[in-house]
Amino acid sequence: MQIITMEPTGHSRYAITSSSTRGPTFLDAASELGFAANPDFNGAEQDGFGPFQVNVAAGRRISSAEAYLRPVANQPNLTIATNARATKIVLTGGRATGLKYLQNGTETEIGIRRELVLSSGTFESPKLLLLSGIGPADQLREFDIPVAVDLPGVGANLQDHPRMDVAFTNPAPLDVPPTSNILEAGGFLNTSSDPEGPDVQFHFATTLVNPALLDQGPGWELIVCATRPRSRGVVQLGSADPHDNARVRFNYLVEEYDRATVLRGVSVALELAATTSFASIRGTEVAPGSGIRDAMDLESVLRRSMDSEYHPVGTCKMGSDDSAVVDAQLRVRGVDGLRVADASVFPDITSGNTNAATVMVGREGFGLLARDEPLSSGQVPAAVDEDHLAGDVGRQR
Ligand SMILES: Cc1cc2nc3c(=O)[nH]c(=O)nc-3n(C[C@H](O)[C@H](O)[C@H](O)COP(=O)(O)OP(=O)(O)OC[C@H]3O[C@@H](n4cnc5c(N)ncnc54)[C@H](O)[C@@H]3O)c2cc1C
Repeated sequence: MQIITMEPTGHSRYAITSSSTRGPTFLDAASELGFAANPDFNGAEQDGFGPFQVNVAAGRRISSAEAYLRPVANQPNLTIATNARATKIVLTGGRATGLKYLQNGTETEIGIRRELVLSSGTFESPKLLLLSGIGPADQLREFDIPVAVDLPGVGANLQDHPRMDVAFTNPAPLDVPPTSNILEAGGFLNTSSDPEGPDVQFHFATTLVNPALLDQGPGWELIVCATRPRSRGVVQLGSADPHDNARVRFNYLVEEYDRATVLRGVSVALELAATTSFASIRGTEVAPGSGIRDAMDLESVLRRSMDSEYHPVGTCKMGSDDSAVVDAQLRVRGVDGLRVADASVFPDITSGNTNAATVMVGREGFGLLARDEPLSSGQVPAAVDEDHLAGDVGRQR
């Protein structure tokens, strides 16, 4: 087991580790086919096969909240409201001056003295902007929401890694330690000589993880995804009620490039699964299904059973063109005192997994806030109730 502390001087004990049960089986299979080893996908080269780094500290899986928030939770200048749903950003004269949220059935409005940083994720950050009148004017009018800023890119540009699984039952169930993230080893491969780098990622799952396969008993999977998909989707309001889910349309596999890339990866995964390294744990093929090897049949399985890699990004895209929602400092275009810092700001999806990149957006965002000059008293918007703010400080909800 390898432990690298990511934050040698900070409060956090966020660590990256790799621990492996059957990772070596997969890596042996890759080596059998002559693929290069890569001990660190986050190093100089992405190509190759190796262990994944995972978020484990002191022998336990650790979330971003555990790593970054809990250590500072009792600081007097921090108030945490839990079980609270932000419902609207209050704008006054083009500036974010307040935030409404619901907690235990009670609506509260807090004033914003300096800035509001939105980090509700790829589905909810654009939804909150739209509910607050920031977004494509025609969509806002459809729901009778007054248009504060006509920002056509809000909710557009939705991206995710499309995935297909190659899966087998396993006559000898694997021993998985509690700190395992199940997806312990993987690889990145360039199946099309793409000058941008590897176009396919593999995850080796030490158990069946595809929801459609969970009733098959013990097993394992090779999960294949396209690293730079070209299909784009959209997040839109379902209604003007903040409790209603947003309407999400991914448009997965609309682009032929995405289908072809995943299928090239699947054919490599089938070769990996057929190596002697997997012989002792290879039971029945449950995906795509034994005998399904014809290109048209595989594409039909892909269209029927494609799954998400759970990496949605891009709906509040950073940039300087007309479709951008935030600028390079994460500031929402056309609104003062409002930033977005989460996976929604990615202009293009990362060619690897999205969690660490999102953490970096948060860390960089903090740096941007800290570097900016504080507002002078003259700039503090009149709508802010400073007594209310002061009263909130130090209380944990
Ligand atoms: C099942 C699954 C497995 C994954 N596995 C991996 C992996 O192995 N490796 C990897 O790199 N990535 C993985 N990801 C992706 C990774 O989790 C995301 O990229 C990352 O969490 C995105 O961070 P975010 O801050 O943008 O959004 P989120 O993590 O979704 O955070 C948004 C937060 O805002 C809160 N929120 C939303 N709306 C409101 C509101 N109106 N009011 C108040 N709070 C609100 C939510 O409750 C949530 O806590 C996985 C994702 C899923 C779903």
